[in-house]
Amino acid sequence: MQYDVIIVGGGPAGIFAALELAEKAKVLLIEKGRIIEKRNCPMKERNVQCVQCKPCSITCGWGGAGAFSDGKLTISTEVGGHLDEYIGETKLKNLVDEVDRVYLNYGAPEKLYTVDRKRLEQFKRDATKADLHLEYSPIRHLGTGRSQAVLLAMKDELIKRGVEIKTSLTVKRILIKDEKVTGVETDNGDFFAPKVIVAPGREGHNWFTKEASRLGLESDINPVDIGVRVELPKVIMEHLTDHLFESKYIYYSKTFEDKVRTFCMCPGGEVVAENNSGLITVNGHTHAERTTENTNFAILVSKNFTEPFKDPTKYGQYISTLANLLGGGVLVQRLGDLLDGRRSTHDRIAKSITRQTLTNATPGDLSLVFPYRHLVDILEMLQALDKVAPGVYSRSTLLYGAEVKFYSSRVKVSKNLETAIKGLYAIGDGAGITRGLMQASCSGIIAARNIIE
Ligand SMILES: Cc1cc2nc3c(=O)[nH]c(=O)nc-3n(C[C@H](O)[C@H](O)[C@H](O)COP(=O)(O)OP(=O)(O)OC[C@H]3O[C@@H](n4cnc5c(N)ncnc54)[C@H](O)[C@@H]3O)c2cc1C
Repeated sequence: MQYDVIIVGGGPAGIFAALELAEKAKVLLIEKGRIIEKRNCPMKERNVQCVQCKPCSITCGWGGAGAFSDGKLTISTEVGGHLDEYIGETKLKNLVDEVDRVYLNYGAPEKLYTVDRKRLEQFKRDATKADLHLEYSPIRHLGTGRSQAVLLAMKDELIKRGVEIKTSLTVKRILIKDEKVTGVETDNGDFFAPKVIVAPGREGHNWFTKEASRLGLESDINPVDIGVRVELPKVIMEHLTDHLFESKYIYYSKTFEDKVRTFCMCPGGEVVAENNSGLITVNGHTHAERTTENTNFAILVSKNFTEPFKDPTKYGQYISTLANLLGGGVLVQRLGDLLDGRRSTHDRIAKSITRQTLTNATPGDLSLVFPYRHLVDILEMLQALDKVAPGVYSRSTLLYGAEVKFYSSRVKVSKNLETAIKGLYAIGDGAGITRGLMQASCSGIIAARNIIE
């Protein structure tokens, strides 16, 4: 029961911390979800609505939220988290390259989506003319399916190198004595270590926020991103996705000056539902081996609140609850129906030239879910995108809702990601410090190296 380091969470952040610490310390990694081979989702396998498995196999288990993720590794310091604020741009750049090499060693594909300067300038010119800003980053696409193989290979390596891994075990409390961490309490006994790295991901965010507050740790509020998943025939965006894979566009809406952006573009992909602590929201992925005739991506509106309301997460939960209330899960609507002020039905969706890939989404009316402000922002963004990819603003374009990105409150940590409690580190998406595979993985290395030092 006595270790040098305990890691809470078996997502990319926890796994990269363990890879760094293996053979240098006696390490225990605790993960509340199942082993990867047993992470089965009835929604995907039987095409039914979410049956609220506990724990959810999509977000929990070996590999974390990343296991069934699209696995787009963004080779950039500018997106996917705030690590540059802790270690600086140059160190982060080196770490990003290092993490990329680790993924390659464990089976990530060699192909990197990049574009030459001339083509990039053309894309940027086209974007400017449409009032859009194009953010460019090279992408390595693992693909759903291959992500799991990579994560399995990492697990085998960790076991070989002596890291103890316990799955289906939940950490309930962080144990502290005299302002220092001493271990963790789980639903099956206590485990002790002078260093604890907490990497609970979005799934463990609520738990960690409560623990942080019980332990008197300070945190900042992150905004919430709310929007829709857009699905259309892949030919419409092929001139962009063939080169960039993902094109990240930013737009400031004319009506409200809100920041609106595209996110998680999945060429040849499928729209999927996911369980966010009981709320069914929408997402997307591209499989490594099979493709569809569609491309999907999110359009997200970033929103922060000041006074007296200061809880963006609750606001996002409220919007998702409305969609779930009306549709029993995810709602889908043709853009044409939304513009005509009527709900979509199965018959109307069947007339769309876009084939719906999330077949258990309920045809409905998104104007009953989103506030006016969000709807206007989304429609303006679709019109702007139509200028760089004609066909986006087609009546057949499908919109799924709600897509909500809940970002965890950001816990105050040092540049080594250690909290105010000695020996307690907080990393990854669950600590509000990162928002993607690449930086989550980097954060694990930062904490582990500080412990080794
Ligand atoms: C459908 C989908 C697609 C995505 N696509 C991409 C993509 O293409 N590119 C990209 O960069 N990012 C993507 N992401 C985001 C990416 O998966 C996350 O940013 C990343 O997994 C965060 O890593 P993490 O280790 O911080 O947290 P997670 O991966 O969430 O792992 C945290 C783990 O901690 C466990 N845990 C939580 N609380 C406890 C507890 N109390 N006790 C024990 N264990 C606990 C959880 O079960 C979970 O397995 C996607 C996410 C989803 C859901």
